[in-house]
Amino acid sequence: MPTSIALRLSRLLARHACRNMLPLRGPAGVVSFTFDDVPASACEAGAAALERHGARGTFYAAGGLTDQLEEGKPCHSEAQLRRLLADGHEVGCHSYSHIRCDILGADRLNAELERNARFLENLGVDTRRLDFAYPFGAYALGAKQICNRRFRSSRITGGGPHYGEVDLNAIQTYRLYAETAAPSYEELLAQTAARKGWLVLNTHDVENPPSRFGYTPENLEQAVKAALDAGCKVLPVGAAIDYWESQAG
Ligand SMILES: [Zn+2]
Repeated sequence: MPTSIALRLSRLLARHACRNMLPLRGPAGVVSFTFDDVPASACEAGAAALERHGARGTFYAAGGLTDQLEEGKPCHSEAQLRRLLADGHEVGCHSYSHIRCDILGADRLNAELERNARFLENLGVDTRRLDFAYPFGAYALGAKQICNRRFRSSRITGGGPHYGEVDLNAIQTYRLYAETAAPSYEELLAQTAARKGWLVLNTHDVENPPSRFGYTPENLEQAVKAALDAGCKVLPVGAAIDYWESQAG
């Protein structure tokens, strides 16, 4: 296993290497709501909060978590993922075993991603245009090169909104977690609208009380409404990329 210094160096290199830049030039800013691991509550209350405002989200699923418990909370079933797809949400890849991708060798990482691609394909996901989120946000140069070949986009965790351009191989987020207060994202929403940028939000379970990494249904719905009220479009990640690409013409 690489040392932590080697990992940190690799991540620093990874930030600036193997980029796939997309200009963000459009008439409106975009906010994307994303759900990692896909707890059952995200499929239900999370999807419902978006749907009540005519919006859809991106759900990054790891096949190895299907029908399992995580942090004592039930994860998605295959039926729930199929329903998300039928209702117009996007289901993306989050590795199969929910494993750190920065410390895996190339063969093991490819096997992980291939296994989850088969899992998603079986659900009816178009795996030629797959969006990916790194489990634990853990990426490194080798993983970024592999993911660049396999995925339309790859999302990390944290870092905030993008303005002007985005590296589709390292899309940043703002975390909607239990301790996140509304005022902290309202300024970001205002900036995203004013500068016509892209703000990707990420959370996990959507229930009351949420886990440390989740959000309540009420707060999630408030965030969806705040994004729309700020003048942003609310689009899932793949649809957001389509939007930016159509504007870049
Ligand atoms: Zn995860």
